[in-house]
Order: sequence, then C-alpha cells, then structure tokens
Amino acid sequence: MARRDPHSYNDDTQAEAVSLALSARVDFTSRTLAAEATLTFVKPAGGLLDLDTRDLAIEAVEDLAGQRLAFKLHPAEPILGARLAITLPDGTPGIRIRYRTSPQASALQWLEPAQTSGGTQPFLFSQCQAIHARSVIPLQDTPRLRIRYTAELTIPGALTAVMAAAHRGREAQGDVAIERFEMPQSIPPYLFAFAVGELVSRDLDARSRVWAEPAVIDRAAYEFGGVDKMMLAAEELFGPYDWERFDVLAMPPSFPYGGMENPRLTFLTPTVIAGDRSLVRVLAHELAHSWTGNLVTNANAEHFWLNEGFTVYAERRIILALEGPEAFAIHEALGRRALDESVARFADRPELTRLRTQLAGVDPDDAYSQVPYQKGYFFLRLLEDTVGREPFTTWLRSYLAAFRFGSITTTDFEAHFEGAFPGVLAKVDAATWIDGPGIPLTAAQPRSRRLTAIESLGGALPPDELARSWSATEWQLYLESVPRPCAHCAKLDERFHLTQSTNSEILVAWLTLALQSKHHAVVPRVEQVLSTVGRMKFLRPLYAALAADDRAVRSIARDVSPDRAPAGRQRAARSRSLSSRHRGSANPRRYTARRVVARRAADREAPARAGRVRVRAR
Ligand SMILES: [Zn+2]
Repeated sequence: MARRDPHSYNDDTQAEAVSLALSARVDFTSRTLAAEATLTFVKPAGGLLDLDTRDLAIEAVEDLAGQRLAFKLHPAEPILGARLAITLPDGTPGIRIRYRTSPQASALQWLEPAQTSGGTQPFLFSQCQAIHARSVIPLQDTPRLRIRYTAELTIPGALTAVMAAAHRGREAQGDVAIERFEMPQSIPPYLFAFAVGELVSRDLDARSRVWAEPAVIDRAAYEFGGVDKMMLAAEELFGPYDWERFDVLAMPPSFPYGGMENPRLTFLTPTVIAGDRSLVRVLAHELAHSWTGNLVTNANAEHFWLNEGFTVYAERRIILALEGPEAFAIHEALGRRALDESVARFADRPELTRLRTQLAGVDPDDAYSQVPYQKGYFFLRLLEDTVGREPFTTWLRSYLAAFRFGSITTTDFEAHFEGAFPGVLAKVDAATWIDGPGIPLTAAQPRSRRLTAIESLGGALPPDELARSWSATEWQLYLESVPRPCAHCAKLDERFHLTQSTNSEILVAWLTLALQSKHHAVVPRVEQVLSTVGRMKFLRPLYAALAADDRAVRSIARDVSPDRAPAGRQRAARSRSLSSRHRGSANPRRYTARRVVARRAADREAPARAGRVRVRAR
C-alpha cells in the first residue's frame, strides 16, 4: 500500500475513480445537500477502497446494480477528515453513495440575503481548494487523480446554478428547478465548483461570458470586457486554450478570496471592479491558471509552487505583453515586497519557506503563504534570465504540452528542465531555491524608471504631476513604501482624496497607512469597508492595524452598539457581524473566522495561515 499524498487516504494500490455522476438537492433552510454520488473506476476492481470525507453523513453505499456494500466510516482526523472504507466484491465497476453534507461543510459557504448585493435571495458557493472537496463529495480527494463529472443540482426555482463545467440544461419542476452540467475535461477534485444565487449573465465575446447578481452585471461586464485580448496574449505565449470557455463569476462582496481559478468559470471578488479596469491583474492570474495549475497540476500540496509560482510567472508575462515593461516591473516589485513579508512572517517555521515542502501532519491551509507564489516566480525568473527569455518560453510551452491534463511533482519539473537545459539547474544552485529556506541572494531586484521615481520619494509627499500619472499599482506601491507613522496623512488625503477612492487596492493601502499613523479621520471609512467586504487580503491588514490602536477600535464599537444601529435587516446583520468581530480579540484571523466562516485560505493572495481560523471556527 502506498499513500502518495499526505493529505488524502487514497491508496494507489486500490481502485481508481475516473468519473463522477453527482445528483444533489440544495436546501438553503437546513444548509445541507442531500446527494448521491456515483463513482466509476478505471477498470473493475475488488477489495478495500478508501475514500476521503469530512463531516458527511453516509446513508448507504451500493454497487451499480443496487447491491448494498459494507462500509465503515472511521473517526475523523483533524486535518484529513474521516476515512470511508468500502469493501468491494471482485469485479466491481463502480459504486453509488447516498449521503448528506453538514451545515458546517468546510467547502460550502451559505450566505444570507443580506450578504449579497441584491439583498433578497440567499447565495451558496463552494471553495474546494486545498482539501475541502471531501466535505461535499466522498471521493479520492487528491490532485494526483483527475476525474470527469456530470452534475444535476436541484435548487429553488427563483435561483440559478452555475458550475465550473458545461451547462446541459435547466428543467423547472414546480417550485424547484433542476440544472444539469457536464465537465468534459478531467480535473483534480479541488477544481470542482458551483454557485447558486440570483444570477444573470452577459456575453463578453465568443468564448467568455460574465455572471453576476443583477445589481452588479453592468459594471462587471465593463470591467472584464478586455478578457479576449488577455486570452489571445496568453495563447500566444503558452499555447492553445484547452477548456473551450472562459467564463467569469463576480461573487458577492463577502467572497473571502481574490479569485479562484475554477476551470471554465473563474470566481472573482467584486473588489476588483474598480470602474476603470485597473485591477484586472487578478483576472490575468486566474486565466493563466488555465495552463499552469489546471492543465499541469501539482500532484499534492507539497509541490504547490508548481501551481502558483508558474502562474505568477505566466500572469506577469501577460502583463508584460499587454502593458509593457514598466507595469511589469511595478508588479514584480509588489511581488518582492510580498515575498519579503511572507518570509519574515514564517521566521519561526523556515521549513515552510522552501519551494518543495514536507507537509505530513501539516494542514495545507496552515502552510499557505505568498512564498510558493513569489519565491516560485523569482526562481523561474532566474531560470529565464539564465537561459534567455525566448528559449525559456519555448521550453515552458513544451513543458505544458508534455504534462497536459497531468499531475506532477517537483522532480518531474526538474527532470524536464534538465532535459532541455543540461547543467543549468546546478549552475543556478536550484537546490537552495527548491529545498532551502528563505530568499536566495540570486533573486532579481526589480528595476524600472517609474519604480525608481517612487522609491526616490522615500515616502515624502509626491509632486502632483507625478502622482496624477500613477496607475493603481503605483499608488499601492507608494502607499506601502511610506514610513510609519506618516506625519503628512492629512495633507495626502486633502490633495489626493484617498479616503474617497473607489479603487479597493488604493483605498485599503491608504486606510492601512492612515490607521498605522493614528490618522483617525479615516475610521468611518474603515468601518464601512469592514462591514461590506469579505476579502481576506483587505481584512487582514485593516484588523491588524486596528488591533494595535485601542482608540480606533473603541470608536468603531460605539458606532455599531445596538442602541445606535439603525433598523433594517441588512444593517443589523452587518452590525452583528462587525461587533462580533471586535469582541475581545486582537487576532484578525479570529474576526475573519466569524465573518466569513473562513475555511480554506485559498485566496490567491490570502494572508499566511489564515486557514487556521477554519480549524478554530469548526
Ligand atoms: Zn493562483
């Protein structure tokens, strides 16, 4: 027996499922799915079969002829969940499992109407990365094994279901509707994804459509309107797009992540809708995953950098192609800043700052940080610098083609690269990058004219003319570079109206700087952001700044005390969530837990170890 993924009970000597047929009834009242999952094996098999589950109530297991099979649901283990052990008679081609999910299912987020933009209908979405698919479906929850699936979701008739799959029709039946889907491309289980809510769509081009709540659809359609240009640039760089469609779902504001690269249907936070397409970098990132991550997938979480380091590299190549070298350098500089911070935050666990990690006994959510993203990027950048951009790009295309629809380890990458460029890995001392902690000295220092202009300010007030020429990313970089405490906060705001910014990245960078500088005039705006936005990337710095500032916290708590909270469900719900988050904790992660029932810190940019809140919250 061999368990080749430390985060799955999958045993590679047992039957292997290649397809799933799911039928599920979505019940918003009990916050559960009543479901039936049919797994078909590569070939008929017998003996023991171990599946991954978490918080599932298993009602029955039978073979495809309806014959009951013996099973045992073992006690739950904190990280892995509960092993479902099924005994298969020889020659079993597949199994059917009837079960119910728990209201606490770690992959499912059930939103009250007040947590949506429309405010009248509930909303449900899934987030399965890293190991939460097992809380929705009993299966072999390891990216090592890919599956195809069909799904049939029974939902309230007033709502619409969308899925990271092809839509195969909707059928009304009384007050419910059945929505059917099929995923023709094989995926690792963490890319299984769906959402149910009041949703409408708008076509962007022949291959892309945007889905959103009705109140958001116009703005979303404008913001993501450049997606075809992005796709063409990406195909030029990395080869043909293999997933047929690239649709986008604009999530409700409480979506805790920047984006999730669910194939055929990327989930995106509405905080990237700035009105001027200035924050669509996240879209480029999720699109890039169509090649790096979704097409060529890490075999398990110990090789997560193969997903994220490659995707950050691919994302920046798209930015370089569409926006040029100055924008590229600014993004690199932001990445370097994020890497430095992450490595500092993991000072007590340097083993988690390696590219190839060892995660037996470690929750992948706890190991999560910007390290695999940015250190992975700077490692690939070093390889590119060493062999030349064109040869590197040619190699990247051949690597993607070689492992297409496959799941690989760091060793597979090393062997493939070595085959193309013998001796280069040794020359750049790749071992210190891959298996050593921290940031090697050979990491590139981003350089550009516009970057130097920001850095040479040293945090001083920028001249009007310079500041007016800044992109959102340059503003962000400038605001992050201002030394704390900043004595000229009032002047900055007076001149540039930062508190009124509708660009979420600029706004949060400004509010963080202002709070850290005890510039309390921004507190009402901070309160407004905290009560409407769920994206952990933004909540974390704001709560961290508040936690260090009693006066600001007191003034917020006063504002939302019950006697001052206005009537109305939405406001009341926000107040409840806000005051509960302020109750007695200096740890922003605990606030986040109450607010978004945060589970997987899969935010492509979530704070390090935010996943821990999930464990505490459960
Ligand atoms: Zn990513």
